[in-house]
Amino acid sequence: MTQGPPPIATTKMMKKLMADHFLGLDRAAREGSPKVAWCTSVGPAELLHAMGFDVYFPENHGAMLGATRMSTETIPAANAVGYSPDICSYLTADVGAFLKGTTPLTRAYGIESVPKPDVLVFNTNQCRDVQDWFEWYGRHFKAPVIGVRTQRGVGEVEESMVSDIAAQIEALVPTLEEISGNKFDIDRLRETVGLSKQCTVMWRQVLEYGAKTPAQMTFFDHTIHMAPAVVLRGKPEAVAYYEALLTELKERDQAGLSAVPGEKYRLYWDGMPVWGRLRMLGDLMTELNTAIVASTYCNSWIFDAFDAADPFRSMARAYLELFIVRDEAFKEKYIQRHVELYGCQGIVFHDAKTCPNNSNNRYAMPQRFSEVHGVPTLVINGDLNDLRCFSDEQAKTNLEAFVEQIAEAAAA
Ligand code: SF4
Repeated sequence: MTQGPPPIATTKMMKKLMADHFLGLDRAAREGSPKVAWCTSVGPAELLHAMGFDVYFPENHGAMLGATRMSTETIPAANAVGYSPDICSYLTADVGAFLKGTTPLTRAYGIESVPKPDVLVFNTNQCRDVQDWFEWYGRHFKAPVIGVRTQRGVGEVEESMVSDIAAQIEALVPTLEEISGNKFDIDRLRETVGLSKQCTVMWRQVLEYGAKTPAQMTFFDHTIHMAPAVVLRGKPEAVAYYEALLTELKERDQAGLSAVPGEKYRLYWDGMPVWGRLRMLGDLMTELNTAIVASTYCNSWIFDAFDAADPFRSMARAYLELFIVRDEAFKEKYIQRHVELYGCQGIVFHDAKTCPNNSNNRYAMPQRFSEVHGVPTLVINGDLNDLRCFSDEQAKTNLEAFVEQIAEAAAA
């Protein structure tokens, strides 16, 4: 086994931040104050913070179910009440866990259950599943489910689309005022959008360390360190976290540390992580002297458009410009740009069985990369949470053969 660099020390700070986040939500739900809003991962979190809600992200809980491999036990419980094994396995793992009365929060923080929502707020920019998911809980808790319905397959982002989404976000305000008991304050919204912007700028800088050779962090590290950008954006804690992480990355860079000792090859990852196999895949890539230095998934929490001076429109643009919302031509250019920026010699496409929205191999993108752009590609079959769809052996064999192909091309 190749000896890796010392662990990233700032991770300890994140563990404390995440513990405070979940314990705070648990307390708020039990005491009834502040009110709890559930939000989709790329939903209007800034508005919810500005309205005084504690904000909970069920997709983060879904990823925890996957990473702890509890999802294997919980998905069948949701299948049994009619939620197909073919739909989002965050949804099925999460609803199944609730039905079974179990959560990884118990082991991690001694918390009995996910926090009861006072309101659930979705944005369909990523998929329809999030709305169906929230509606299940809305029926269960008799809580209002409100949201934003975003266009999909967008090419150019038109001003009319931004106006539509901005109006939809603004239209949430009266309901949120009624539920929170707080009056909307535009300055408070400017502040949270400003904090999200700071968070986004620093998260981008963290990811761009991957463009250096050797890379300081890989995709597998990014999936862990992205947590504050997902659940704490709009809050000062996320900004403080990335300040500390950037300081440490700079020091590690100056000390010549490398995430993958003896890094020889560099790859791009497209698609969802396989949450229950991050360790296995990370160790395998280290053994192969290969760093997965960038990914579409971790880049998805960069929101360049945030602007505190124009909070509603800039939120609308930020949540509309996302990769997942865009058409195939945009996606191809985006990946090509990142493959070049990060010096990647190949692309691994993860075809996640239950997430067509984040599986970009299904309309001949890998073939276009190989044939038109001359970039080697590999498709791995798997899933984000449902490990019945993933074979360790098959993934290992395919990745080993792929790296060998890249090594031969590099030597030629
Ligand atoms: S984008 Fe995919 S993984 Fe995320 S909630 Fe939608 S279906 Fe699930």
